[in-house]
Amino acid sequence: MKLALVGFGQAGGKIVDSFVDYDSRTGSDIVRAAVAVNTAKADLMGLENIPNEQRVLIGQSRVKGHGVGADNELGAEIAEEDIDEVQGAVDSIPVHEVDAFLVVAGLGGGTGSGGAPVLAKHLKRIYTEPVYGLGVLPGSDEGGIYTLNAARSFQTFVREVDNLMVFDNDAWRKTGESVSGGYDEINEEIVKRFGILFGAGEVEAGQEVAESVVDSSEIINTLSGGGVSTVGYASEEVEERSSGGLLSRLTGDDGGSDGLDTAHTTNRITSLVRKAALGRLTLPCEIEGAERALLVMAGPPQHLNRKGIERGRKWLEEQTGSMEVRGGDYPVSGSGFVASVILLSGVTNVPRIKELQQVAIEAQDNIDEIRQESDENLDSLVSDDEDELESLF
Ligand code: GDP
Repeated sequence: MKLALVGFGQAGGKIVDSFVDYDSRTGSDIVRAAVAVNTAKADLMGLENIPNEQRVLIGQSRVKGHGVGADNELGAEIAEEDIDEVQGAVDSIPVHEVDAFLVVAGLGGGTGSGGAPVLAKHLKRIYTEPVYGLGVLPGSDEGGIYTLNAARSFQTFVREVDNLMVFDNDAWRKTGESVSGGYDEINEEIVKRFGILFGAGEVEAGQEVAESVVDSSEIINTLSGGGVSTVGYASEEVEERSSGGLLSRLTGDDGGSDGLDTAHTTNRITSLVRKAALGRLTLPCEIEGAERALLVMAGPPQHLNRKGIERGRKWLEEQTGSMEVRGGDYPVSGSGFVASVILLSGVTNVPRIKELQQVAIEAQDNIDEIRQESDENLDSLVSDDEDELESLF
């Protein structure tokens, strides 16, 4: 399906930038437009693939292009004040060619954390297309203020979007790597998963159309109903048979091994479905209780079959207890691997969110306490003990 991507803040901008790169590299054709919004000029300048005229610097009169630090209340205020400037960039998008908006932001910082929910609310008011969010949770080692920002932004963002897809940096943190190098890899993981998911609804005429191709309406229906989503992924390398199978069709070579091949293909698909659902999700959670799910099997058409997908779908129904599990193919010739991507929508059993909120509340209490203490300390430093001195005015 075709998306209008808006990256808010540094993380949002970088992830959208990677999406644009992924899109042109793979020919997925899902990015109809890409916009980056920031209060920090340097962050916008660091982007590589988003066109210059689609980079919007907001809050210049307030923060002079230097960003908002990690103040997400200021981020939200500036977004509200300068929403017309963001709208100016959105105006250049042919929205009738877009199936949905996707607003991307890291929730731990200031600009994206505060601004993304403001923009989502604005877009929903103006357009009839669905507005989805992709929110990135901070690592638990980033400190209290980031956790507090994320917990508050998460609450607000979920309310303002048609569905909030979540990626948890904490679950994907790698030790012994530089932070920026680590983010490059993490961002690749993000665009791979969401790229396959949204790319599935964008199979063009002329491409080999498999038996049951995922349609963009199936993605939209899985996301409709709101709430929080997570995405699982698993893949396996495969060898592609001689192109198009022409030779084997001519020589009739296929016949003898067909039965075996089918069983093997089916088994591979079912095990990839299990690995994707039970492996590392973008937001780790209990999959039982997920309200809706969508299974996408991507890969060379001869390695996809309906039986495998049907079995995988049934298995997902059992595991989630959901009656709304959709599934289909995303035929990609020449990819060299078969991958399963599972979108679990409306998940509610997410210990990580509860933990984040707990830490956020503690941080909030600490911050209040420290502020009060430092007010008192300053007071006792500045004023003389017996109150014998008088200030000038
Ligand atoms: P903002 O510019 O004020 O919105 O803040 P940032 O986007 O710089 O940071 C917000 C949070 O996003 C940080 O706390 C990190 O957890 C996360 N983050 C920053 N850069 C990246 C990135 O490139 N990829 C990912 N996945 N997360 C990032």
